[in-house]
Amino acid sequence: MINFNVPPHVGDEEKYIAEAIGNHKICGDGPFCKRCAKWFEDTTGTEKALLTTSCTHATEMAAILADIQPGDEVIMPSYTFVSTADAFVLRGARVKFVDIRPDTMNIDEKLIEDAITKKTRAIVPVHYAGVSCEMDTIMDIARRHNLLVIEDAAQGVMSTYKGKALGTIGDFGCYSFHETKNYSMGEGGLLLIKNPDYIDRAEIVREKGTNRSKFFRGQIDKYTWVDAGSSYLPSELNAAYLWAQLEKAQEIYDDRMNSWNQYYEMLKPLAEAGYIELPYVPEECIHNAHMFYIKAKDLEERTKLIEYLKNHGVGAVFHYIPLHSAPAGRKFGQFVGQDKYTTKESERLMRLPMYYGLKENEIDKVIELISAFYQN
Ligand SMILES: *Cc1c(COP(=O)(O)O)cnc(C)c1O
Repeated sequence: MINFNVPPHVGDEEKYIAEAIGNHKICGDGPFCKRCAKWFEDTTGTEKALLTTSCTHATEMAAILADIQPGDEVIMPSYTFVSTADAFVLRGARVKFVDIRPDTMNIDEKLIEDAITKKTRAIVPVHYAGVSCEMDTIMDIARRHNLLVIEDAAQGVMSTYKGKALGTIGDFGCYSFHETKNYSMGEGGLLLIKNPDYIDRAEIVREKGTNRSKFFRGQIDKYTWVDAGSSYLPSELNAAYLWAQLEKAQEIYDDRMNSWNQYYEMLKPLAEAGYIELPYVPEECIHNAHMFYIKAKDLEERTKLIEYLKNHGVGAVFHYIPLHSAPAGRKFGQFVGQDKYTTKESERLMRLPMYYGLKENEIDKVIELISAFYQN
């Protein structure tokens, strides 16, 4: 059986978790949390990184910091995970869904301006498969209309756009360390903050509305309740698991990239013969091999291919049902303009097995099966 996903494990996780237990420090913001956050500040070159309990929660924090109010509107693609919308819907916002580009499956930057109204407060680009959205255009639109940009970079850890780390281009960036992502702590995430003016409030919101972070740094004598907040900091045990992988970040990256390239090269003949479509990566984007997907002709063919692979011991999956077609999507938002590609392309796309440690001969097998499927 070749699984669709296996959570990353490099070997030092148990040692670091034992160390956290030995330190008698298993709540949040101990040495491992701090090391992880510092690692992301250093590698992405951003002002502040805060480790969180999930990417969903990082996005929720961004929505709070952006001061999203009931009736405000946010613009995002419909082809995304529910969390992208949930974080804003929880604050009472309405979601305006915009169509995607068929080549990258990212929000079509050329359609964003048509969705802006007097109530629009933020644009939420989602970097699908770790391939960046057209960020120069999106930042330019945001600047001209005085909107915030909150990047859902859940899949974009270690990816760049024109040399800049994803998650550091907009006002806020959100990463995920869920077990299906490139670097994991089971459940977890990170909030990247570009503008230092937001840092104080971010620390307060993350620590139940208290100024505890300042207290621990010795900047104030006692801490107190100063604002509304929640508990968005993860346990040291989870951070210890993540730290083991950050130490091997490049090794994980290279391993996934080798798998990605193998899929790409070996599936090219099928693509050139017109049977399938392969992912597209714009020149200014360096991706992180988060996923390898192919597109079948249509929904019917994709269903058959997934079934065929399953019957031969290979886990392949389809992906998002467009949010605007879901019951909550209809309640909390609406599609702006024509759904030219969102539904059609989402029905054709399927993800192939991709994880750290996936073997060359396993990829060979997946490719042989796909070839055999199309020969019949
Ligand atoms: C995984 C994912 C999320 C949610 O991440 P969690 O850490 O599970 O909350 C949000 N958006 C996208 C695009 C994702 O892929």
